[in-house]
Formats: sequence, C-alpha cells, structure tokens
Amino acid sequence: MPEAEGARTLPASPADSLRIAGLVPMSTVDWPDHLTATVFTQGCPWNCFYCHNRDLIPTRTPGAVAWQEVRDLLARRRGLLDGVVLTGGEALRQDCLADAAREVKDMGFQVGLHTAGMYPRRLRDLVGAGLVDWVGLDVKALPEHYTQVVGRPNAAAKVWDSLEALLASGTDLEVRTTVVPGDVTADDAVEVARRVHEAGARVYALQQARSRGTSGTFPAAAPGWDAQCERMAAAIEALGWERFTYRPA
Ligand code: SF4
Repeated sequence: MPEAEGARTLPASPADSLRIAGLVPMSTVDWPDHLTATVFTQGCPWNCFYCHNRDLIPTRTPGAVAWQEVRDLLARRRGLLDGVVLTGGEALRQDCLADAAREVKDMGFQVGLHTAGMYPRRLRDLVGAGLVDWVGLDVKALPEHYTQVVGRPNAAAKVWDSLEALLASGTDLEVRTTVVPGDVTADDAVEVARRVHEAGARVYALQQARSRGTSGTFPAAAPGWDAQCERMAAAIEALGWERFTYRPA
C-alpha cells in the first residue's frame, strides 16, 4: 500500500520538520529568572571563531531529537516550566521555527529565543506575530570588525537591523557581547555597549568566551584577563541599564 505508507511518513505539522540537535529538559540559565526547556537547533551559516557549539554549525547534519519529544515533554511539565528557549546553532535559520513557537505558545508556555541577528526579516515576522516573549541577541563587535569575528561578509547590518526591529517591537530583550582576550571583541565591547545603549536597549550582558566545545584555536584566558573583563564590565555598567550582568567563563 504505497500511498498509505507515504502518508505516514509526512510530518504531522510543519514543526515536525525542525532539525533539533539537542533538548535540555530543564534549565535555569538560558532565560534569566525563568525555568525553561531548551531546544538546540542544528545549523548556523556563520562560523564565529569562538563558537562553543561547533557541532551545531553544519547545516546538513540531520536532527537528533524529534519535535514530538518537545511536545511530550511540555505536556508532562505543564505548570512546572515557564517556557521554552529556542537556540542553536541559529534557530531562525529554519523557516518552521515559527510553527514550533506557535505550538509552544498554544500549549500555554512562553517562548524565548537566542539569535545572532542574521535574519532580521524572520525576526520581525516572529515578534510581529506575537510568537516570542523574550530575545537574547548577540551583538558581537563593531561593524568594521564583524566579518573578522563571524567569518562571513555583510553581517553587521543584519544584526543592527535585528536590534532595531526588537527595540521597535517592545519585546523583552537582553543584548549580549562575548569577549575573547587579545581580540577585537575585547577592544570593541565598551563601544558596542555604548551604541546598543544609545539605540535604546536597557538590558545588557558581558560574557567571557568559554573554551569548552570550541575549536580550541584561540585563548579563552590570559594573564590579567579577569581583571580586564571586570574593568570592561564596570565601564559598561556605568552606562546605566535596567539590568546589567557580567558572566565570567
Ligand atoms: S552565530 Fe552562534 S552558533 Fe553561529 S557560529 Fe557564531 S557563535 Fe556559533
């Protein structure tokens, strides 16, 4: 019965097409003040030298977790979890992310999104449709250094467009910058924060790059690095935020 067999292999909903690399059933760290399940999507078009999820970069790698597992988890955790964080890789790379977010909302959970800001149109659509409650947006460097950090051209304009879209939408937002010793990320961080603040963002985090999960080809620590980061953090905090967080490695 080839027709019936074919029908059974079709995804039940567009969200079932989401390529998921991993699912953390309970997390306290992916969305400040929220208890979440966290979905790691597969694939990212960028190649940041400090990426700590390098296994999630390849875009052709098939998913390892079915969306149905997320559904089943949420059905069991009603009343226990605040929401679901969609992260990656780059979660917005996959068109069906909106369907997944809608399912999460329909099940009564909030949706958080981590993005590097490379898909401003998709981001606008998602927040415009009310499918995202909170976004963690990476702003990695000053525009003139973006290619050097992400390994791809024409990145900075997309990120700043994403920032504008989020600020215009009023979506809860944390902007984050990750710093690496002896690198433009560290040189730029205070000025990046100043521009982000000037644009209107009010929640910001400075993060030290970690070595775990990376290519191992850059130094994640150096003599005096912690003290340098603490000075950066103090200078950024002094810009005046509703909330500022410093995250050491
Ligand atoms: S944007 Fe994020 S997932 Fe993609 S390469 Fe950079 S750090 Fe890794």
